[in-house]
Amino acid sequence: MIKDIFNEKKPTLSFEVFPPKKEDDFANAFAVMDKLAVLKPDFISVTYGAGGSKSKRTLEIASYIQNQLHINALAHMTCVGSKKEDIDAVAAQMEKEDLKHVLALRGDRPADMSDEQYNSRAFAHASDLIAYLKETTSLHAAGACYPEKHFEAKSMEEDLQHLKEKCEAGAEFLITQLFFDNDSFLRFREAARKAGITLPICAGIMPITTAKQIGTTVSLSGSAVPKKMADMIAAYADNPADLRKAGIEYAAEQIRGLKAEGVDGIHIYTMNRPKVAAEILDLI
Ligand code: FAD
Repeated sequence: MIKDIFNEKKPTLSFEVFPPKKEDDFANAFAVMDKLAVLKPDFISVTYGAGGSKSKRTLEIASYIQNQLHINALAHMTCVGSKKEDIDAVAAQMEKEDLKHVLALRGDRPADMSDEQYNSRAFAHASDLIAYLKETTSLHAAGACYPEKHFEAKSMEEDLQHLKEKCEAGAEFLITQLFFDNDSFLRFREAARKAGITLPICAGIMPITTAKQIGTTVSLSGSAVPKKMADMIAAYADNPADLRKAGIEYAAEQIRGLKAEGVDGIHIYTMNRPKVAAEILDLI
């Protein structure tokens, strides 16, 4: 089980991948997984569409990782747009595919979801999904956490209280939202420990290798862009090759700093780019 690896090594190394939307890219996804496997991660997590759409693809990729590559797969699962029967069906499929680990998430409210649908959802929060999966399946659940606070929470204290509930519901380890300032992670980890959260916390690191990423993935995550990163992007705006190199160095420096602080795990948001992940690992 993934939770046992945290007792054996520190930090663990893991990757996040996503199932490509286009059919051609999807065929290529397996080659991407093969290349990531060479880097010997302890587990690979596979994202899931917010409304539960494309769950089939998440499971297909997770199954390939688990059963063909023999690497622990952590399949993401969101519940904001799901009925209990939908969750039961996905969980049953996971068990059929011999998948053992799930990153249980609430997910973001889809833009087209009415207030009535949102307010009557079957699982109000990720902690409810985790408790349900623990009760009804043999799956092992992990949960998400937010070093810079989840955007809906009124305060970090409130967010941590809910995170504690997520742990008590049965989460076995946590993975953070991406962040670019190690101090924000270290403050969060200290506050979490003070709040009685003892689970391993994997630090989510996203290499920024194109300026476009800041306008898309990063702004969606709500993570702050520190001056050092903004300066890096401005300095190399007209030189994609140098920006890529600087972004890889930035991520490697973050990881070196986190290792020095005894982080439990490093989780690289690979964006399905094995070469970038490999270059970061070469530097550390
Ligand atoms: P929750 O843990 O339910 O928290 C959401 C908010 O509700 C927080 O503000 C929390 O403080 C509050 N809360 C929790 N419990 C209670 C309670 N009992 N009462 C009142 N308030 C409460 N999204 C996808 O669509 N697909 C993915 O594959 C995906 N992968 C992700 C991976 C990671 C590592 C992370 C960090 C996020 C990922 N997301 C993904 C995004 C995630 O779905 C959103 O951030 C979503 O808004 C919150 O999900 P959650 O599971 O953290 O929710």
